[in-house]
Amino acid sequence: MSERRLLAIPGPTIFDPSVLRSLSLGHLSHTSKSFVSIFSDVLTKLKELLYVDDGYKPIVLAGSGTLAMEAGTSNFIRKGENVLVISNGVFGDRMAELLSRYPVNVDVVRIKEPGEVVDNKRIAEKLEEKEYGIVTVTHVDTSTSVRHDIKELGKIVSQHEALLIVDGVCSVAGEEIRMEDWGIDVVLTGSQKALGVPPGLAVLWLSPKAINRLSETQSKYSPYYMDLTKWIEIMNSYENLKAAYFATPAVNLIIGLHKSLELIFEEGLGNRFRRHEALSKAFRSGIHGLGLRLIAKDDKIAASTVTAVYLPEKIELGKFRQEMLDRNVVVAGGLYPPIKSKYFRVGHMGPVNANDIISVVAAIERALIKLGYEARLGNGVSRTQEVLKAFDL
Ligand code: PMP
Repeated sequence: MSERRLLAIPGPTIFDPSVLRSLSLGHLSHTSKSFVSIFSDVLTKLKELLYVDDGYKPIVLAGSGTLAMEAGTSNFIRKGENVLVISNGVFGDRMAELLSRYPVNVDVVRIKEPGEVVDNKRIAEKLEEKEYGIVTVTHVDTSTSVRHDIKELGKIVSQHEALLIVDGVCSVAGEEIRMEDWGIDVVLTGSQKALGVPPGLAVLWLSPKAINRLSETQSKYSPYYMDLTKWIEIMNSYENLKAAYFATPAVNLIIGLHKSLELIFEEGLGNRFRRHEALSKAFRSGIHGLGLRLIAKDDKIAASTVTAVYLPEKIELGKFRQEMLDRNVVVAGGLYPPIKSKYFRVGHMGPVNANDIISVVAAIERALIKLGYEARLGNGVSRTQEVLKAFDL
């Protein structure tokens, strides 16, 4: 079977060939001089990615985004405290489920309808009603492709004692995050999305306030492997160009992350975020051109990394995805339970370019028309082209 397929799901994404090649650099010991220097550079660049410097601590673990969610929350738990989970979709709900296994009282503020984000005013009220030790939020909820305004939320949470923990699995390196300016205490992500590295790395960033909390909680409720007090020492050592061992780091993936970060900074962070914004706008415009509806209720909260689209009535998701596959494009199905079978999702993050966006929109047009949807061939693509031209892409 041909391997020339366009993977257009919201993670794992397509990867730059140079990143994939870097994974097979050879046999490197995790204590070798060359790896130590690569890892040290990775840690420095990770700080730049979120616009933070000394005092903030990036941590790279072998694991997926869910491990980052668990390590990034459980380490900070004080028994019996209140935790507020803001849920804009499936991954907010996952965070609530995860935290309910720990000795805390979990309150969840949920969206009323898919495609919304929780209003920051509701969160401000909640924080006035009760004292919370932790507030968690998903920056981009991949299930419905909405983006929460973290900058505004940070202003609200910083008036309280609570730590603000942001799930950035579907946003880091694709959406701007100014960790210090926005008052965020923990950001967590996985490697396989906008970071542009195959699945297998969980990455966390801790603020000085989070590190301080850690000295109080001593990672008491976090299992052995996820004990961040141990990992901080390891990261400190690598940052200072000295190897250290707690558990074997994912050497090859970290080399891949190094290559990807090089590409990210070659492009420039501002350019990178603008490119993601432009490509997502071009994609949404194509979707509107086809007369389809987005899940995101408002363009202002539509994510730059992923887009969720309602299928026309009477078109079955399975058949649509198969028609897309027949045209060598892989899209994802729905994920948000109440509307799961009614929509599909397209990821546009990492090394995705204008040609990929045009190909996906063009394939959607042909697939839908084949399935009996009435639209004029080219209506979506021409709208996409207009936006790409406006952004000079
Ligand atoms: N949070 C968000 C926002 C995600 O999109 C995902 C994965 N789709 C996760 C957490 C969980 O990550 P993983 O599948 O890598 O464990």
